[in-house]
Amino acid sequence: MISMTRQSVAVLGATGSIGGNTLDVLARHPERFSVYLLAANTSVDHMVALCQKHKPAFAHMADSDSAERLRMALPKGETEIVTGADTLCTLVQSPAVDVVMAAIVGAAGLMSTIAAAQAGKKLLLANKESLVMAGALLMDAAEASGSAILPIDSEHNAIFQCLQANERAVPDLRGVSSIILTASGGPFRLWDAAAISRATPAQAVAHPNWSMGAKISVDSASLMNKGLELIEASWLFRMPPSKIEVVVHPQSIVHSMVRYDDGSVLAQLGNPDMRTPIAYGLAWPERIDAGVEPLDFLKSGPLEFEAADIERFPCLRLARESAAAGGTASAVCNAANEVAVAAFLDEQIAFGNIPIIVENTLAQVSNQEPESIEAVLAQDHLARQYALSEIKRMRKGH
Ligand code: NAD
Ligand code: MG
Repeated sequence: MISMTRQSVAVLGATGSIGGNTLDVLARHPERFSVYLLAANTSVDHMVALCQKHKPAFAHMADSDSAERLRMALPKGETEIVTGADTLCTLVQSPAVDVVMAAIVGAAGLMSTIAAAQAGKKLLLANKESLVMAGALLMDAAEASGSAILPIDSEHNAIFQCLQANERAVPDLRGVSSIILTASGGPFRLWDAAAISRATPAQAVAHPNWSMGAKISVDSASLMNKGLELIEASWLFRMPPSKIEVVVHPQSIVHSMVRYDDGSVLAQLGNPDMRTPIAYGLAWPERIDAGVEPLDFLKSGPLEFEAADIERFPCLRLARESAAAGGTASAVCNAANEVAVAAFLDEQIAFGNIPIIVENTLAQVSNQEPESIEAVLAQDHLARQYALSEIKRMRKGH
């Protein structure tokens, strides 16, 4: 045992898919972990149940109305209910917090993730959008403070497990020739382009292997998720995009791989259950029970691999191009995608319009040097405005 002092954990995005899986793993190890802070957007009823079960010192809601409703629903004294974006960052940086699970979805997770990195926390990074938007700033903040970043995205967690790392979780890339991200291919893997373009939200969120939030499920269906993961990997592992391969692996058993100069390829395997990477991040460098079914090779069937098709899935190409362009291009790509996915889930636009909006926005919004968070947020804002105008134009055309 390296240390048996209890680690105090802040779970940001507590009511989401990753948040729920995190709380499941934490509850299996009360001797190791205590829950200090739970943060969510507006799901008051869900937070009531989570606060009753996990008894955090603080619960944070994104708006004051939700905070007030949560306050009314809970007995006084046990959990302090707070709101406000600055308050969330202050709490995350509190000396009482050891570990931060950054699992808010989308750009909304950026500031709290940066706050955790600045304060030298052990950062369990599920919010891939923060690296896509501000990779250099986030990595630099972590380096300056000594914050250890443990990737929670299953692919990046797999890659991390296939590398050697120092005591600050900084991976050693000597001898690595490339990284191989596996992709399930999503629900439209075998569909033709015309059918994909007409797909409904219900079809897009029906992922074959993973149960996830709506936004990342749509991203998985468009392969934008793999594109965002390519950008995420390029920051986490300091790899040029040209050294990051993508291969479709429909069974989601091999979670990703590392190719070495001597011809070795290391892979991490397991059932598709996010509690594995979450438990790995929480306990690193130790291993703890995650409640995950052991992988049964005799039942898993053949493991298949095929090429990713960027003709039918142009989002993967757009993300790769953004990564290669550098600057704020990937933040613009991410912002346009977030707006387009929200409009698709709201049935305002067709699935096939998502890559069109992203491509047009990338062509329209200038690529800047991401020298500060403000500079990134300015391009994020411009991209959102332009993407919204595209959506309006498309709706008029109907
Ligand atoms: P989800 O939609 O299930 O949950 C999102 C969470 O974020 C909720 O708790 C919600 O309340 C909170 N939230 C949303 N907007 C907020 C705001 N403005 N302020 C504060 N909180 C807000 O999403 P998820 O599937 O759990 O994904 C969370 C993150 O993890 C995403 O960045 C996703 O890409 C990443 N991720 C998820 C999975 C997965 O299996 N679900 C796998 C890899 C990476
Ligand atoms: Mg992933």
